[in-house]
Amino acid sequence: MQIETDLRGELRRNEPMARHVSWRAGGVADRSYFPAALADLRAFLGAVAADEPVCFVGLGSNLLVRDGGFRGTVVFTHRALAGLHLLDPPTGGIYAEAGVASPKVARFAALNNLTGAEFLAGIPGTVGGALAMNAGCFGRETWEIVARVRTIDRAGRLYERAPADYRIEYRSVVLKDKAGAGASSDSSSLIPHPSDEWFVAAVFKLPRGNGMQSRRTIKELLQRRIATQPLDQPNAGSVFRNPPGDYAARLIEQCGLKGHAVGGAVISPRHANFIVNTGTARAADIESLIELAQAAVQSRFGITLEREVRIIGEARAKSGAL
Ligand SMILES: Cc1cc2nc3c(=O)[nH]c(=O)nc-3n(C[C@H](O)[C@H](O)[C@H](O)COP(=O)(O)OP(=O)(O)OC[C@H]3O[C@@H](n4cnc5c(N)ncnc54)[C@H](O)[C@@H]3O)c2cc1C
Repeated sequence: MQIETDLRGELRRNEPMARHVSWRAGGVADRSYFPAALADLRAFLGAVAADEPVCFVGLGSNLLVRDGGFRGTVVFTHRALAGLHLLDPPTGGIYAEAGVASPKVARFAALNNLTGAEFLAGIPGTVGGALAMNAGCFGRETWEIVARVRTIDRAGRLYERAPADYRIEYRSVVLKDKAGAGASSDSSSLIPHPSDEWFVAAVFKLPRGNGMQSRRTIKELLQRRIATQPLDQPNAGSVFRNPPGDYAARLIEQCGLKGHAVGGAVISPRHANFIVNTGTARAADIESLIELAQAAVQSRFGITLEREVRIIGEARAKSGAL
């Protein structure tokens, strides 16, 4: 990879990803880049080899990097893509860049008497991560409030896109084929997002509301989270998507797996869809528990639990292997 010397930002080698994911476990990224501004990110992507795996990372609250590490480049958005401001009427709404924390958007909306973003207070990632995951809680989902997004591709080109350019489902966002965006429902014309295009910003459409009421809603929402989730130990939120008409947590609990441990990873005794790191977990311990829960639920209920958390990288070579 030939990188211009006047590129601003920070390029690191062998970056321990445990520092950047909420599970606080896992391997290194061969290369990581913290752009200083969007212009640097554009120049950087333009210089990255076409076959170099690239992964954008927000706050790592839905991500696990296997212990053998990621053979590619991780791009961190939170330093450079930090813009957050109101849009003037008649468009209205909020412009938020991909590296802004979702709870910050919720608070900013409430402070400005805009309603509809309160649920983002409960999602401890970035706007980019929320867009990629269609993150949601308490009956709301990110893309319900998206008016349009700005994206960047591998060549550093920027695009303005509308929600209609994506197939948006529960915890899944797929960019329709650029050539046939919006034109086809054939899944073969879909490319998975974000394989070669990533989010740099979103415009959220939010009607006028009552800021005091929004702040009350946010407070209640956070209190409910504290009461039900094991927030005192490193975790990545819900590990599995809820299957239609059921709850992953209920199914895992019925299999008697609450409290089950592999190494330093434990299926939370408090919430069975959470896996917590008790301090010494390796990524392999977490992934083993994920597979164990999937196998148990499949065997007992015939239901396939689909992962919500994203896993990248390579397993560590077994000791003794060449
Ligand atoms: C305690 C806790 C509670 C949680 N509760 C919820 C919840 O209620 N609802 C919910 O939906 N999730 C929840 N999560 C999961 C997580 O917070 C969300 O999925 C969040 O949106 C991820 O954002 P992030 O910035 O941390 O993304 P990361 O974990 O950094 O990345 C997640 C995925 O998004 C991709 N990505 C990140 N940034 C970009 C970008 N700019 N462009 C394209 N792709 C990108 C990454 O490549 C990766 O595939 C919870 C997590 C925790 C730890």
